[in-house]
Amino acid sequence: MATIGFIGLGNMGLPMAINLVKAGHAVRGFDLSSDQMNALKDSGGEIAGSAAECAESVEVVVTMLPAGPQVKAVYGESILAKVAEGTLLIDCSTIDVATAREVAGQAAEKGLEMIDAPVSGGTTGAEAGTLTFMVGGSEAAFERAKPILEAMGKTIVLTGDSGTGQAAKVCNNMMLAINMIGQCEAFAMAEKLGLDTAKLFAISAKSSGQSWAMTTYCPVPGLVETAASNRGFKPGFSAAMMLKDLGLSQDAAEQVHAQTPLGAEALQLFRDFVDRGNADVDFSGIINMIRGDGDF
Ligand code: NAD
Repeated sequence: MATIGFIGLGNMGLPMAINLVKAGHAVRGFDLSSDQMNALKDSGGEIAGSAAECAESVEVVVTMLPAGPQVKAVYGESILAKVAEGTLLIDCSTIDVATAREVAGQAAEKGLEMIDAPVSGGTTGAEAGTLTFMVGGSEAAFERAKPILEAMGKTIVLTGDSGTGQAAKVCNNMMLAINMIGQCEAFAMAEKLGLDTAKLFAISAKSSGQSWAMTTYCPVPGLVETAASNRGFKPGFSAAMMLKDLGLSQDAAEQVHAQTPLGAEALQLFRDFVDRGNADVDFSGIINMIRGDGDF
């Protein structure tokens, strides 16, 4: 079992860190929120006074931070200055490919192995330990990381060199956003057509319209237990995070001249939704804007 420093104990990081504790690892956590740190402590973890303290004298550091700027700052100011020789660095945040490669390059200059290992599966997957990890980095680092990642996920794929895990993640989340908007449009239209949404679900969940956005995260409440729609659209995965990811996928598309017209449209729709005051609403709450409901 390993000693692990875990930085970023939010909607995803906290249940991931708790699964590491359950697997028998010694986990020391740090977050800007003391409530989140206390929740880890209540589940058998330890608390650090700073990100630097969290990264000191551990075998593995895992980060699960909001976006590229936080990852760059926490690695630049705290982790790389403090970690012991041989510490394995695993960044699970969703960030841009260039920042992932830049930070991994800085780690390599210090002789440290680092992988980008963003995840898919949402908070339900994080709690159940069934996340999918897309790993960019060397084969040697991947083999070292695997037993750690297995305590938090079920599907663990080496995607290639540094940054390719993030490339997989932005492609995946562009699909997710487009799929979710498709679900929202179809279910909102069904309501207006006088079709029982439970009937539509029973049919499409077994037909060609099926997707994860429907069967695990249905935007209509009462159809899928795990969906944020059953909790008043409390995230889950916030609209602000989805907007960030669509920005990353459109930036990536521009850099390589890929045609992503639906990705561009999804970005615009999520920007409108966030601009209307829904940054902290779950991303599936966009169904309310698509329905044309009240304040959304
Ligand atoms: P979150 O906002 O709930 O958690 C981020 C945490 O990082 C917060 O608790 C915050 O206090 C902490 N933090 C920010 N800056 C910090 C710093 N300098 N030092 C220490 N802690 C700091 O976000 P989340 O939903 O857990 O998402 C985290 C990452 O995972 C994002 O990159 C997101 O895109 C990705 N992701 C989220 C989901 C999901 O369903 N929520 C799914 C897959 C991937």
